[in-house]
Amino acid sequence: MTRGLPQEFSIALPAWVAEETAGVPTHLRSADDRMALVHRLAARNFREGGGGPFAAIVVERDSGRLVSVGVNVVLSGGISVGHAEVTALGLAQRALGAWDLGGAGMPAHELVVNWRPCIQCYGATLWSGVRSLVVAGDGPELERLTGFDEGPMVPDWAEQFERRGITVTRDVRRDDALRTFADYGALVAEHGATVYNARGGGD
Ligand SMILES: [Zn+2]
Repeated sequence: MTRGLPQEFSIALPAWVAEETAGVPTHLRSADDRMALVHRLAARNFREGGGGPFAAIVVERDSGRLVSVGVNVVLSGGISVGHAEVTALGLAQRALGAWDLGGAGMPAHELVVNWRPCIQCYGATLWSGVRSLVVAGDGPELERLTGFDEGPMVPDWAEQFERRGITVTRDVRRDDALRTFADYGALVAEHGATVYNARGGGD
């Protein structure tokens, strides 16, 4: 007997992402190249209306092979956990058939994001198995420019990553991140674009 309770949920990328990534090389060698792609996706994502100005990619750390991309799909997916990091990590894990991206015999994987993860994605990144995290920046600018709430992050978040074998690299194309956040903030001011969960949550 079924009670008709929901049985499944999924997170899918918006259709435009395939178009935007069509010409991207299979390997992104430098941190700069990796972050440039993240910024391009983030800048387009909020204009397409799918979610906030956030994107992430998973690459093989050493070879630069692009494994997956993610954008914030909270609005298009109708799901609060649909942040860019969760989307990119989940797609990478499904593609590789491994919940642990740092499992035995696997190359080291890297998550590249256009700001320090929020409190949800902090946990998601810790449990993902990635060996390195690259962020365009961290600090109060994101919340100030966009109005998003990153949650009660621990002040020693980077140290906690390092302690678990995840190296942290900051300040890669930081100015580009701030420009995208400022553009988003201007759009919100002008058109009243949705900053979802106004009760104080979630990038
Ligand atoms: Zn997040």
